[in-house]
Amino acid sequence: MIPYGRQWISAEDVAAVVETLESDWITQGPKVAEFERAVAARCGAGHGVAVNSGTSALHLACLALDLGPGDRLWTSPVTFVASANCARYCGADVDFVDVESDTANLDPRALEAKLERARGEGTLPKVLVVVHFAGQPCDMASIAALADEHGVALVEDASHALGAEYGGRPVGDGRHAACAVFSFHAVKPVTTGEGGMLVTNDAELARRAARLRTHGVTRETAELETPDAPAWWYEQQALGCNYRLTDIQAALGVAQLARLDAFLARRHALADRYDALLDGFACRPLARVAGAVSAWHLYVVRVPAPARRAVFDAMRAAGVGVNVHYIPVHLQPYYRRLGFAPGDFPAAEAYYEEALTLPLHPTLTDGEQDHVVETLARALADAGA
Ligand SMILES: *Cc1c(COP(=O)(O)O)cnc(C)c1O
Repeated sequence: MIPYGRQWISAEDVAAVVETLESDWITQGPKVAEFERAVAARCGAGHGVAVNSGTSALHLACLALDLGPGDRLWTSPVTFVASANCARYCGADVDFVDVESDTANLDPRALEAKLERARGEGTLPKVLVVVHFAGQPCDMASIAALADEHGVALVEDASHALGAEYGGRPVGDGRHAACAVFSFHAVKPVTTGEGGMLVTNDAELARRAARLRTHGVTRETAELETPDAPAWWYEQQALGCNYRLTDIQAALGVAQLARLDAFLARRHALADRYDALLDGFACRPLARVAGAVSAWHLYVVRVPAPARRAVFDAMRAAGVGVNVHYIPVHLQPYYRRLGFAPGDFPAAEAYYEEALTLPLHPTLTDGEQDHVVETLARALADAGA
């Protein structure tokens, strides 16, 4: 099976991990700090807080922004469930903002209308999580202007978008949002096996997130609430979690990050090649966002809805690991039980009916890509598309 995404681990990556395994630190230590500095530098942010998953980074972002019961978080329905679940972990309510049909990114016009309505009803959200779907940046200038106007904290779910650029600057630089969150799951732009990071220019937000990552406990003398504390003192000042990344994983992250440009170059070449090879096919790729550089996490095509299931099944049967990103979050049984229903977000639902993710990862060969395209051509023809 040609997978839709997969990691690329080199001999140097393995050596970096082994070196750490043989060092004094295998839990959170100097490699985690080095990885945090490297990711923050790469995306032009002041601070990085490494954690054990992208989901944990989203949860800490919400906690650090004081999201709690009675508050609302809005996000896109076209995302992994984690972008919404982070609010539920905090006891907050979730709502969604529909997407642009051509990019599947959060639609600033839908956002504007929904914010106006919410202002009238007194139901404005505290946090908006935007998702740079497939690695393409959202229209951050428009979204940030609206968030500012309504006093909404902006979090970028940049799980797909490490290495992407918007307005000539890297995603995650904190120009438009309180913080950005990355995932280092195996299929993401760089991997630590499992892992994630919150990046921000807000030193206080970073400090809070770092403390919440380790049970809400601090040993920093300057932060203690107890005067004249003895040398062994530590204080739990809030209810946090154990979301620490290991130095073993961070060593892999540092080595992987050094290869990010090579990964991106190969992803871009493959995406351009797909565009050329699929010209004239009965399917079309997502629209490219003008003035932005995608991280090309996913290559999604829109297949005529009546043919999508047959095309998916035929390609899987032929050994091509196609996928669907994503089933709209509000249609998941858990969210339906919270009151959402089909028809709530029509653009997201129409997008989903046609979505098909083709294999795209830096180890995909031209020959494998040709095979994917030939298989797709046959599957489309057999499905009468
Ligand atoms: C992968 C992903 C996450 C969650 O990241 P994990 O590291 O798997 O916890 C969150 N949001 C999006 C959009 C993702 O793709």
